[in-house]
Amino acid sequence: MRAVGLHPDVIVVTSRLMQTTCTLVRSGGEAFCIDSPVLPDELEILPAIAEQAQFAVVGLLATHADWDHLLAAYAFPEAALGMAESSTRVLRERPGAAQRALRLFDDQLYIERPRPLGIGEVQSLPTPGRCDIGESELELYETGGHTPDGMAIRVPWAGILVCGDHLSPVEIPMLCEDEGALDAYLLTLNRLEPLAERAETVVPGHGEPLDSERALAILRQDREYLQALSADGAAAPLPLARRTDAQRRIHQRNAARAAA
Ligand SMILES: [Zn+2]
Repeated sequence: MRAVGLHPDVIVVTSRLMQTTCTLVRSGGEAFCIDSPVLPDELEILPAIAEQAQFAVVGLLATHADWDHLLAAYAFPEAALGMAESSTRVLRERPGAAQRALRLFDDQLYIERPRPLGIGEVQSLPTPGRCDIGESELELYETGGHTPDGMAIRVPWAGILVCGDHLSPVEIPMLCEDEGALDAYLLTLNRLEPLAERAETVVPGHGEPLDSERALAILRQDREYLQALSADGAAAPLPLARRTDAQRRIHQRNAARAAA
């Protein structure tokens, strides 16, 4: 697991699995943990990383309700979880889905956890909206298309945008099964574009933190890919730097979903 200080108040930790990112944000003696690393040993050491840097984690945020972003409760079991209203709705409508997906994943890789994933009381946050942290506020923006729910989080005083599973240097856009997912994804890219322009650093859900220029280049590639997917389905070319077999499999699923 890699930990990088992006700003005196922001640390990004990148998991050894799927390059899932976890962002620690601090203001006025209070810190939040956004999303989570995946492996048990990474989750176990996370409190020590936070403590050593004097980030007192009192709250958790998750960019969306996919299981791989919900594991911070293993590291900070006392902290309350805040999510976009759309995400709390997903958790309510699909009770236990994240736990089942995590169990399936762990079973395949023989990963053992100290206990089942507990998601306690979740606080609903409005998007667009703001969320108090210490002496400052985080800005929240609605996202969609990858999942039916989600939010991007801007840390205005640090110039950092945490954008969930979008603008990834390692993963092509992954559409959800919902009708209109492709349009929702394109709309999300439009919404993220001015935020990425203003950002010093963009933290994608999977992959290393990006400077603004690189994030915008990925955004344009993703938009081009989705437009081609909409016009040509499976024949759409993949972004140049993301053409591995794994990405082609995601692409096949996308093509089926875009055609549905
Ligand atoms: Zn993810």
